[in-house]
Amino acid sequence: MIDGRQVSAEVRERVAGEVADFIAAGGHQPVLATVLVGDDPASHVYVANKHKACEAAGIGSVHHELPADTSQQDLVTLVKALGDDDEVDGILVQLPPPDHIDADAVIAAIDPTKDVDGLTATNAGLLAGGRPGLVPCTPAGVIELLDHAGTEIEGAEAVIVGRSNLVGRPLISLLLGRNATVTAAHSRTRDLPGVCSRADILIAAVGVPGLLGAEHVKPGATVIDVGINRTDDGLKGDVDFEAAAEVAGAITPVPGGVGPMTIALLMVNTLAAAKARAK
Ligand code: NAD
Repeated sequence: MIDGRQVSAEVRERVAGEVADFIAAGGHQPVLATVLVGDDPASHVYVANKHKACEAAGIGSVHHELPADTSQQDLVTLVKALGDDDEVDGILVQLPPPDHIDADAVIAAIDPTKDVDGLTATNAGLLAGGRPGLVPCTPAGVIELLDHAGTEIEGAEAVIVGRSNLVGRPLISLLLGRNATVTAAHSRTRDLPGVCSRADILIAAVGVPGLLGAEHVKPGATVIDVGINRTDDGLKGDVDFEAAAEVAGAITPVPGGVGPMTIALLMVNTLAAAKARAK
């Protein structure tokens, strides 16, 4: 069992040390700005947790809360102002915004050097081109978990199920960058069990509870379950944990696997943005 809570705590502790070193060497305190539009309760909890994690890591944070009827133009204006604000190193707009706001237009307004979610076209392009940039937090967290589990990535057959811009696509580039042989499977893939059961590293990022079972898992494979699905039986991943765990060599639970990593990598990215801006 790969314990995401423990790995997340280790990463956050490492960042706290690096923040202290950066400041001791004459650097400024990194600052994350969060922006939340509307009153979605889950989004409020996510943003509050991000501020708590900042505080624990010695990272400063500012929060902008806007009413649900905020116009797209006003939101874009705020995001651009944060880009121009010298005190701010990272900008995080909590997604999804209310329906009347186009998330892509808001993301396009984020200064790429402060894009700690790694969502702008600039950072997506840098990642696709194998060049340094800010990497989306959840896929970066998946790589941390693989490294922590001692799974060899170089030369491994890696299969990612799901090709979203947030998770699946960045993982293709990250795993290629680590010299894995990468297959991207998705809703139109023929013979999903056949494709998945080739994988030394199987990553599920689909949003369908229990989609992958024992027949999808090669004996001894490392299985990383990104899925977070609210069901009547509580939070479930995309992998049928009990069945897959019988066959896998290592596997993440849901909750307590990939979930806690996202926030840890947000701290990593905020410090990285602060260091890059200081140069
Ligand atoms: P998405 O809906 O944007 O993409 C889903 C992908 O799965 C698509 O590419 C689609 O082709 C593929 N797919 C759908 N049905 C399929 C099927 N039957 N067989 C094979 N492929 C299929 O989703 P997303 O944003 O990538 O999120 C995926 C899951 O990960 C969700 O459960 C989400 O809640 C979770 N998630 C977790 C975190 C975290 O912090 N742990 C972060 C982001 C997303």
